[in-house]
Amino acid sequence: MSIAIRNISKQFGAFKALDDVSIDVPSGELVALLGPSGCGKTTLLRIIAGLDFADSGQIVLDGDDASARHVRERHVGFVFQHYALFRHMSIADNVAFGLRVKPRRERLAEADIKRRVKRLLELVQLDWLADRYPSQLSGGQRQRIALARALAVDPKVLLLDEPFGALDAKVRKELRRWLRQLHDEIHVTSVFVTHDQEEALEVSDRVVVINKGKVEQIGTPESVYDHPATPFVANFLGSVNLFHGRVEDGHLHVGNDALALGASEGSDGKAVAFVRPHEFDLVPGWDEQGALAARIVRVVSVGPSAQIELAHGDGKLIEVSLGRDAFRLLGLSEGDRVSLRPRHIRVFPTDALAA
Ligand code: ATP
Repeated sequence: MSIAIRNISKQFGAFKALDDVSIDVPSGELVALLGPSGCGKTTLLRIIAGLDFADSGQIVLDGDDASARHVRERHVGFVFQHYALFRHMSIADNVAFGLRVKPRRERLAEADIKRRVKRLLELVQLDWLADRYPSQLSGGQRQRIALARALAVDPKVLLLDEPFGALDAKVRKELRRWLRQLHDEIHVTSVFVTHDQEEALEVSDRVVVINKGKVEQIGTPESVYDHPATPFVANFLGSVNLFHGRVEDGHLHVGNDALALGASEGSDGKAVAFVRPHEFDLVPGWDEQGALAARIVRVVSVGPSAQIELAHGDGKLIEVSLGRDAFRLLGLSEGDRVSLRPRHIRVFPTDALAA
């Protein structure tokens, strides 16, 4: 089922939680709503579900205006951060719950319910836990069961609100891979809320970046990461170095240094520029043209990469990430002078920063 979110606005008192939000989710897509705490993600999810209603705008499901439809008529499945599995019911009974509470004329025969539950437990790879109780499962297993339960009633849309938020980092990582694979198998249109950029980039087909109730950018994980449309998106998606400077004659002037810009980048005037830590080339000495002159402050070389902290001119700290072997070959250490040449700079007028 496709979802069209059209010009949705929602206020709580004088506070604008959602401000003219429009998003199209084609059938079968997995979309992540990504943004900082309080930006309106959950409010939007609740409005899509029919648990809450917008002040203006429409929710169109498969071409039909569903804005006034009750949650029961929207055929959505939910998974929340705090899974509410029924403690006194076995795992199989939890998954069967939505099927057993259907009105008699819509209800499957008990044997069919059992077959369906078995299939769902196989799908989430936990069929061996059917007879256990929720308290006997790990947090990650409980979330997979919560997903099986949501899928039991054959929802047309799956809504997930920080489903892995309560789990530790390693389990989160496993589960998001698992969710991606599961989605590739079942292709149910899904909207996934997260404030974790890594999670959004890894799991989704497209990412919707939201800030203060407004959509900042919609695109594939690659496009929002590589081509952020606003300073907010550049800043929010992964670690980044921010420089204040001035664009003039095709160059970004930062302190005493000038960095060449591509023909289409930056219009003259005060500017902010973003460079990710892995987008610098590092050359020993200060003789390089078109580079930032800096001094190495600290090197942390753990795992496959070296994280290098450098001080530029007036003391501004810059973070650079290089392959560990590439860094070793340069023969550099703390206190050395180096030139930093960015391979990719994203430049915005300074006014865009305040927006
Ligand atoms: P988080 O990641 O922290 O859950 P979120 O992006 O999901 O944040 P929402 O829960 O959608 O944010 O809330 C958006 C804003 O609207 C917040 O500032 C919140 O305080 C406010 N808000 C949400 N629900 C209500 C309500 N029922 N009454 C008043 N204000 C509300």
